[in-house]
Amino acid sequence: MYYLKMNYLTCMENTHIKTTQSTLLSITLVLGGCAADNKEKNKAAERLPNFIHIFTDDLGYGDLACYGATDVKTPNIDRMASEGILFTDFYSVSSISSPSRAGLLTGRYPVRMGVNGVYFPTSFTGLPTDEITIADMLQEKGYTSGVFGKWHLGHHYQFMPLQRGFDEYFGIPYSNDMHPLPYIRGNEVEEYSIDQTFMTRRLTEESVDFIERNQDNPFFLYLPHPMPHIPLYVTEEFEGTSERGLYGDVVHELDWSVGQIISKLEELNLLEHTLIIFSSDNGPWLVMEDHSGSAGILREGKFYTFDGGMKVPTVAMWKGTIPGGTEHRCLASQLDWFPTFAALAGIPLPDDVEIDGRDLTPVLLQTGQRNGDSHLFFDHGELQAFRTGKWKIKKPFGGFEGAPWKHAVAAHDTLLFDVFDDPGETTNLFYENRELADSLFRLMHQKYEDLGELPPSQVR
Ligand code: MG
Repeated sequence: MYYLKMNYLTCMENTHIKTTQSTLLSITLVLGGCAADNKEKNKAAERLPNFIHIFTDDLGYGDLACYGATDVKTPNIDRMASEGILFTDFYSVSSISSPSRAGLLTGRYPVRMGVNGVYFPTSFTGLPTDEITIADMLQEKGYTSGVFGKWHLGHHYQFMPLQRGFDEYFGIPYSNDMHPLPYIRGNEVEEYSIDQTFMTRRLTEESVDFIERNQDNPFFLYLPHPMPHIPLYVTEEFEGTSERGLYGDVVHELDWSVGQIISKLEELNLLEHTLIIFSSDNGPWLVMEDHSGSAGILREGKFYTFDGGMKVPTVAMWKGTIPGGTEHRCLASQLDWFPTFAALAGIPLPDDVEIDGRDLTPVLLQTGQRNGDSHLFFDHGELQAFRTGKWKIKKPFGGFEGAPWKHAVAAHDTLLFDVFDDPGETTNLFYENRELADSLFRLMHQKYEDLGELPPSQVR
């Protein structure tokens, strides 16, 4: 397990780097290296980086070997961590699908746009059309963007990827347990009845083909795998390969997918020009028992704003730019990729839209810290919790007795956790720290008020 206790102050100083070699690499990067390399470096600097975001569905914090899992093998994702950066405190924007995706693609809290629930095949709304997506933003610098996988931000024409800045789309319109479930290419249905057995493989092949076709131009590849969301499917090649049943087998195939992407980039000499991210949209769907992932050391899972629902395994790799073996133990968020990609591509942030994410470039390059260290937690648009630094405060909860689709959770009073020393949120420090709790409450509500007037939910 990578997670180690440490003094939180370290967060504000430097992210821990595991190897001397990495430190040297970082210094080399900052100082520019020897003169003989300058020409090549300058050439590389002129080239806009490619971005790849591999976004799994309902993958838990305890589902990868590099996060401590011993019953699944994830050598390719582990390689991303060992040759790149592993985030121990990376938050999704929501514990459910559609708002999480809205946050990732816009860099904004989904409550700002009323994406407070999940879209269904009966929905007639989607990500509001005045929102700017990462793909919209990157168009300005001539990027080609493709999405291969689960969209889940509205399936009517105006909400679909090609109308949201993407040049290519192949995949399913919503979660893989919703029906009818067609494959869509561009704006047209390509297959009305699909066999999910081959879904991970097919989306991987489409993604590899996209990389091949766009190798000479900057691209953004968004690969939102529908797995390991239930119902689980895996090809015969991966059946029975893990020690965690079908769920583990599915994770093995997702890891294979990552390996295919990396291999193609290596083959095309694109690894040094590509930032690759691997993450999850929310925590594991625990009520699905052995078809669910594991939250590992974290409390609860999907549908809840405990860290098991919100903190997601996230690694990123960029050969020659991110020092290998880096662990980032401070807060970061899925909201951050929008401003990070903008910074790396040299695109100013839109001045008429409030972006909630923060540029992670200093963290990736190991030159500084993320500007800002707080995060608001919402459930279906309702503010439930707040984290700043090592403290997380959670509002009282009336309890949920359980349903076939959602775990039971007992009622609780206000909760205050030191999530640095107690990542499992086991020890409530509220009663002995009332003053601190009061100030955190005030800060949380200040941050919430700063969002301004929020629209009603538009998920219908
Ligand atoms: Mg999900």
